[in-house]
Amino acid sequence: MHTIRTLAAGAALAVLAFFIAAGPVHAASAPDEVPTARGGDLTIQPIHHAALMLTWNGHHVLVDPAPLDPGGGAEFKALPTPDIILITHIHPDHFDVGVLQSVAGADTRILAPRNVFEAMPADLQARTHVLSNGQSTTLDAIPIRAVPMYNTTAARSHFHPRGAGNGYILTIGAERIYIAGDTEEAPELVHLRNIDVAFIPMNLPYTQTVQAAASWVKDFRPRIVYPYHYRNGDGSQADVQQFKQLVGDASEVRLRDWY
Ligand code: ZN
Ligand code: ZN
Repeated sequence: MHTIRTLAAGAALAVLAFFIAAGPVHAASAPDEVPTARGGDLTIQPIHHAALMLTWNGHHVLVDPAPLDPGGGAEFKALPTPDIILITHIHPDHFDVGVLQSVAGADTRILAPRNVFEAMPADLQARTHVLSNGQSTTLDAIPIRAVPMYNTTAARSHFHPRGAGNGYILTIGAERIYIAGDTEEAPELVHLRNIDVAFIPMNLPYTQTVQAAASWVKDFRPRIVYPYHYRNGDGSQADVQQFKQLVGDASEVRLRDWY
């Protein structure tokens, strides 16, 4: 437990040190600790937008490492080497070849949808396992299942067609962590159950409104929910305070600094 906390604190300090060094671009939130039934606490480190790191039992899972803005991405080099990288889909705010090549260590394994795999150079393909919606695998004693991630609103369906991207559900200890990716409340996602921690997007025009996101959260009631991926296409941010208000006591809403 002590070692895990030390590792987690080290990861957080590394992130903070980078952002301090880089100037007032972005202040990463301090990590959160979630107790689990085995393997010690789960540490959740928000990075920015759709990027985050989960640390548990000495394993680091990095999700969607990509630059927040063009030319960015150096912040990922300050993180511990990830054991697992999850890519939700092919858009450049989630998938970046240069960042992946810079952060992947000798033993890092990547999970990604098929079209992301096909867009990778050979060195990244060699460490990548393709998962499609509904498929599962287990890495480092962490079962990981790919679930659908797509737009259900007709006018937005070209952004994220069904089957092209993956949300992921990870079972860490006995905690179930849901990383939604860029999605709306698709029929397959209404009845998610026993989710302890959920990361839910809310931005326009790419995903959904805060009202739709809150309505969905009240349908499946994760124990803890993080609004993430809430910068709109025009650079403004969705009103996450309103999201929190709308969710009410259905879930614990954790507002963190993602930008
Ligand atoms: Zn997207
Ligand atoms: Zn996105």
